[in-house]
Amino acid sequence: MHKNFKNIEKTVFGRGSFNQLSEIIEPKRNLNNKYFVYIVDAYFKGKDLENRLHSKPEDIVYFIDVDPHEPTTEQIDQLRNEILNSKGLPSGVIGIGGGSIMDIAKALSLMLRNEGKSQQYQGLNLIKNPGVYHVGIPTISGTGAECSMTAVLTGPEKKLGLKCEWTVFDQLILDSELTASVPVDKWFFTGMDTFIHCIESRDGILNNAYSMAYGEESLKLCRDIFLSEKSGQNAENDDKLMVASLMGGLSLTYSEVGVCHALSYGLSKIFGEKHCYANCLAFQHLSDYYPEGVAEFKTMLQKHSIQLPSGLSKNWSDEEITAMANVAYNLPHMWNHAIGEDWKAKITIETIKDLYKRI
Ligand code: NAD
Ligand code: ZN
Repeated sequence: MHKNFKNIEKTVFGRGSFNQLSEIIEPKRNLNNKYFVYIVDAYFKGKDLENRLHSKPEDIVYFIDVDPHEPTTEQIDQLRNEILNSKGLPSGVIGIGGGSIMDIAKALSLMLRNEGKSQQYQGLNLIKNPGVYHVGIPTISGTGAECSMTAVLTGPEKKLGLKCEWTVFDQLILDSELTASVPVDKWFFTGMDTFIHCIESRDGILNNAYSMAYGEESLKLCRDIFLSEKSGQNAENDDKLMVASLMGGLSLTYSEVGVCHALSYGLSKIFGEKHCYANCLAFQHLSDYYPEGVAEFKTMLQKHSIQLPSGLSKNWSDEEITAMANVAYNLPHMWNHAIGEDWKAKITIETIKDLYKRI
């Protein structure tokens, strides 16, 4: 079966395009109970961007701190109940922030029109009704969450997305001026998520002309941004990274991620490590699987003087390592893509535990 994917309805790209937000949402203000919900990364509270939201008095603006933990099912359910109990169904939801905020906005849009707990919808095509109109405005580039058809949530049982075509944003505003304030370590780790998406999408059995075209262009941009003489954080590279993130996301959508993402999910689930950082912790040790990609990654680390810790696994118990290996093993689509259809003959829980012990 070939993937039949709904793309984002509308995209505006360009520095300063954030200023078009009010004009873009104006025609939607007549929908439902005629107000908008803004979900904004708490980093922007009290910053210039707060004055540029141009929200109306009837709108609700939430500033959410994404650092304590990745978005949870419980957090979405609480938010949804609070909103519906106070003002009923909004015209739409606007997410302004990184991957965490993109996922909160996407999940909230769906849960506003689907009853019960969001944990019951973790998986593919379990959502019953389309969500409300939703707009994504990324402020840090790399995860591809702005274009993916999943809203990743950590639930009581699993970290898994609400995945369906209604998850995809109706509108994106890609204004790389908003990413200028990202600190260098977060810029690097989140950017590396894009790089790893492209390597994993390419180096596996599901790659195809469509995923490769997006992936190769995204890799070219990553090399400009992280390896070339003009590498580093500047206006031109911020533009490029925003596009690379989108294209990397589209590349993996039509192909798949692999070993690094499987390990990363285990690290997030058991130790609460952030997605992009967890990828970097794992990827440096995966030269058996991605020799060229890992070599390039190490050159990038060096070029930007980024240090990753070593010897972490010495402090992990066998129980913790086994628990992570189980999370990773239970992502068969990733192993199938990376290793091949006979992956179970080559990869066991023990193999995965050994990979974690390298960290
Ligand atoms: P994030 O949203 O977790 O934010 C990372 C940090 O950057 C935070 O401290 C935030 O406050 C800060 N930040 C964001 N924009 C900033 C700016 N302009 N200036 C200064 N600081 C800024 O980061 P992320 O790495 O983009 O997202 C990680 C999340 O994305 C995880 O929860 C992961 O599960 C999810 N994810 C989702 C998908 C998907 O397809 N839905 C894909 C990959 C990852
Ligand atoms: Zn990723």
